Amino acid sequence: MLKVKNVTKYYGDFKAVDNLSFEVKPGEIFGLLGVNGAGKTTTFRMIMGLLDMTEGSITLDGNKIDYNVTDKIGFLTEERSLLTKLTVKEQCIYYGVLKGMKEEEIIKRTKELLEKFEIPEYFDKKIKELSKGNQQKVQFITAIINNPKLLILDEPFSGLDPFNVELFKKQIVEMSKNGSMIIFSSHRMEHVELFCKKLVVLLNGKSVLEGELKKIKEQYRKKNILIKGDIDIDKVKKIKGVLEVTNKADEYEVKIEDENIVDGVFKYVSKCSNVTKFSVEEPSLNEIFVAKVGESYEK
Ligand code: ATP
Repeated sequence: MLKVKNVTKYYGDFKAVDNLSFEVKPGEIFGLLGVNGAGKTTTFRMIMGLLDMTEGSITLDGNKIDYNVTDKIGFLTEERSLLTKLTVKEQCIYYGVLKGMKEEEIIKRTKELLEKFEIPEYFDKKIKELSKGNQQKVQFITAIINNPKLLILDEPFSGLDPFNVELFKKQIVEMSKNGSMIIFSSHRMEHVELFCKKLVVLLNGKSVLEGELKKIKEQYRKKNILIKGDIDIDKVKKIKGVLEVTNKADEYEVKIEDENIVDGVFKYVSKCSNVTKFSVEEPSLNEIFVAKVGESYEK
């Protein structure tokens, strides 16, 4: 298990991470979220032992993370850092050897992964000849070459097309099923929502929201009702507890204070004509994120 306990980081007088704690168990995919400058990369760098923390402790299975455990860790950094004059094979050997792997094993694993990422023909190609998206695939492959127990992914999906996002996701989910601990950061809440069970949201280095996604959604009382039909927006807006009504493509989204408001809206809608949809939905993580970060900014 990865344990981050009461970690604080100062750069000079500036507090970049403020008393942060969380745990990631084997098989869990954990989301570290936050606006730009919230402290995500600083946290990752401290976990990797690349940066000293000012206070607190970080342990992997009870041990301090240092050179002795780097072969169990994989890190995809936000800034892409491939040696572009090397071939894909050479680059993978370079990283694999750093992780204590034998050349034969590295070549086997590289070929398997290139196959999975649908670029087997690039094994002997120079990195600089690859497109940006394919370079990112190679960088991801180098991060998981050693089948790490702990995998840290800083913005893994940035710059990828939706098809390649799927390939990355498939690999991440497979690794978590095989027991890896995975932490990733993303600004794209829809990515986080799809496969993170637990998360922490940082603002100015401090956690403003944390826990299991399911519970976070349950505790956030506001709900959305989606309606298709001929409704009068002004009348819906007047129902007590209705916060906002918006027209989205071919349906209306009615934001309500909490579940108790559903009945009132339903009573009105049942009198309207051409109603083909009435569905009460949980708010999206993006909505909760924006609300929570907004609230904390106002404090
Ligand atoms: P982004 O999403 O933009 O990548 P982040 O959440 O990863 O942001 P960090 O890079 O960890 O944020 O930065 C957290 C804060 O610490 C920022 O205010 C940043 O300016 C500051 N910071 C980061 N590195 C240093 C440094 N070496 N010296 C001083 N301040 C730093």
